[in-house]
Amino acid sequence: MYPDPTRLNADLHCHSSLSDGRWTPEELAAAAAANGVSLWALTDHDEVAGIPRAREACSSLGIDFVSGVEISVTWANETLHIVGLDVDETHPDLVAGLASIRAGRDQRARDMATSLEASGFSNVYESALRYAANPGLIGRTHFARYLVDVGACETVGDVFQKYLVSGKPGYVPHRWATLTQAVSWIRAAGGHAVIAHPGRYRLNDLMLHALLEEFKQLGGTAIEVVTGSHTGDQYVRFARLALNYGLKASRGSDFHGPDESRVPLGGLPPLPDACVPLWADWPVSRLRSCA
Ligand code: AMP
Ligand code: MN
Ligand code: MN
Ligand code: MN
Repeated sequence: MYPDPTRLNADLHCHSSLSDGRWTPEELAAAAAANGVSLWALTDHDEVAGIPRAREACSSLGIDFVSGVEISVTWANETLHIVGLDVDETHPDLVAGLASIRAGRDQRARDMATSLEASGFSNVYESALRYAANPGLIGRTHFARYLVDVGACETVGDVFQKYLVSGKPGYVPHRWATLTQAVSWIRAAGGHAVIAHPGRYRLNDLMLHALLEEFKQLGGTAIEVVTGSHTGDQYVRFARLALNYGLKASRGSDFHGPDESRVPLGGLPPLPDACVPLWADWPVSRLRSCA
């Protein structure tokens, strides 16, 4: 157990170049250690290939590592992200589920390319794929970086606004995993399911209530209260909701790279005092206790 879990510098959400982050797992681990992170998780989108590398890097650096993943879900016509933490990344249910999502991503990417080509760009799929260090995991960010480099927009954020969000030429609606599937794969793999950045979803109070109820019933554990996507007011709002629904609280920067993130790794404020940190009753890692 950690002596003062609310004050622990835990950063349980970020992305490596195995999904849409800029840095390798080793570079992230080194930055987490340099920034004073004590408990760190890699949570690539729909992909666990970076986990063994991240774990290995942490064992040399002496920081506690948590294996993670951020699963893309469609719920009530909205895309949600469910983070799985402390998963066995080799569990066959999780491995097969993530493989099916990645296959869907590839088809979506081809459809996005066709759609952008109708707006005057050419050879888009092959070009965007060159921006994906892991060809098995292509996402909108890779398209955005490519479109910045060809001068379509100045920033990745601008490309999203102009081309990649609903109603824009490169947007293709997509059905991801169901909430039931995502939570069940995470649980089968021995992990904890966490609703990522709940403040980002377009859900009214009634729908948010329905989501939290369903998530609890499925065996979900926590919600991200302090994330790079939330304002200070949202920390308070989601801390209260977590308490009301009997859910624990998580904390994660959602770091993608120095130019594409609001906060550096480990750079967020602590969880509000009233929260029950997801890691409050976790043992301090075997790596550390053996050292
Ligand atoms: P995808 O899962 O391929 O649809 O891409 C989702 C990812 O795109 C998110 O995890 C972010 O990294 C990035 N993203 C989404 N919206 C924006 C935005 N408005 N500006 C910059 N990046 C964004
Ligand atoms: Mn991302
Ligand atoms: Mn997300
Ligand atoms: Mn993320």
